[in-house]
Amino acid sequence: MTAPLLEVKALAKRFPLGNGWFQRTGSVHAVNGVDLTVYEGETLGIVGESGCGKSTLGRCMLRLLEPTEGEIVFQGKDIRSFAKAELHRARRNMQMVFQNPFDTLNPKLTIQKILAESLIAHHIPMTQRQQLIEETIEIVGLSKRHLSRYAHEFSGGQRQRIGIARALMLRPKLIIADEPVSALDVSIQSQILNLLQDLQEQFALTYIFISHDLSVVEHIADRVAVMYLGKVVELATKQELFQRPMHPYAQALLSAVPVTDPDEKKERIILKGDLPSPSNPPSGCTFHPRCHACMDVCKTAVPRLREVEGRLVACHLYEQ
Ligand code: SF4
Repeated sequence: MTAPLLEVKALAKRFPLGNGWFQRTGSVHAVNGVDLTVYEGETLGIVGESGCGKSTLGRCMLRLLEPTEGEIVFQGKDIRSFAKAELHRARRNMQMVFQNPFDTLNPKLTIQKILAESLIAHHIPMTQRQQLIEETIEIVGLSKRHLSRYAHEFSGGQRQRIGIARALMLRPKLIIADEPVSALDVSIQSQILNLLQDLQEQFALTYIFISHDLSVVEHIADRVAVMYLGKVVELATKQELFQRPMHPYAQALLSAVPVTDPDEKKERIILKGDLPSPSNPPSGCTFHPRCHACMDVCKTAVPRLREVEGRLVACHLYEQ
C-alpha cells in the first residue's frame, strides 16, 4: 500500500430543514460520520443508491460543501482548518470532474477561456498558459482547433473530455469524479473510462470515483466503499467485494449486477421498501427495516465499521 493522500475522519454533513410554522424542523444527515483513507495512485470507488450521500461526501472532501463535523487531512494537513487563501492553494492539487459537464461549462466562454480560468486563478505565468492549454486539450483526445469553440458545439463525450481537461489543467494529485460517465452512451463510457485510466498512469493521479453503476466501478476501481444512508457499510478491494460481498446491503446491490458468463447463476436479492429519509433515519442499524438478516440487536445498536477478514464491515452479523 502506498502513503495516504487523503484521510477523512468522522466526517459529517447535515443540512438544516426549514423552521417556519408549516415547515418540518430538524436536519438531513447527508453524511453521517465517515472515516476513509485514500492512498496515492489508487482509485477508490464509492457506490450506493442515489440519496445515500456519496456526492455530498465527494463535495465535502474538497470543501466545495462545508462539512458540519470531522477532519479532512490532505497531504498530512487538515484542510478544514485552512483559511480561504490556503484552501485556494490546496485546491490546485484537488480537482473535481462532474456528471454533466454541460451544466458546469460556461456557455458564454470559449473552451480556451474555460481552460485558462484555473491557470489565471492560480497565477500561472502567461508564458506557460497557452502551452499548457494546448498540451492538455490534446492529452484528452481533442485538438487545438476545438479551443475557439463553445460548449454547445460538442457532443456529451467531448464535453466530458473538456471537463477532464479542466480538472487536469493544474496537474493535480487527486481528482474526485462524480458520476463522470452516467450521462453518456455505453460506447462513449468505455472511451472516457479508458482515458481516465491512461491519465492516471501518465500523471500518477489518485481518483475517488463516485458512481451508482457497479459495472463501471468494477472496471476502474482498486478498492470500493459501499455507502448507505450517509455511512460507509463496507470497504474492500474490488476483488473481495465483487466475489464475496459481506454486508447484506452490499450483497443486495451486487446481486443486481448483470453477469457476463451465461453459466454463472446469481440469485437476485430484492430490497424491501425505499431508502429511508436521511432526515429521520431508522434507529440502530439504519439498514434494518430492509435487511433480510435483521436481528433484534440491529433495531437498537448502531454497528461499528470494523475489520472482518481483511476488510471493513459495519454489521452485527460479524460481531462475536
Ligand atoms: Fe442487517 Fe443487522 Fe447487519 Fe444491519 S446490522 S445489515 S440489520 S444484519
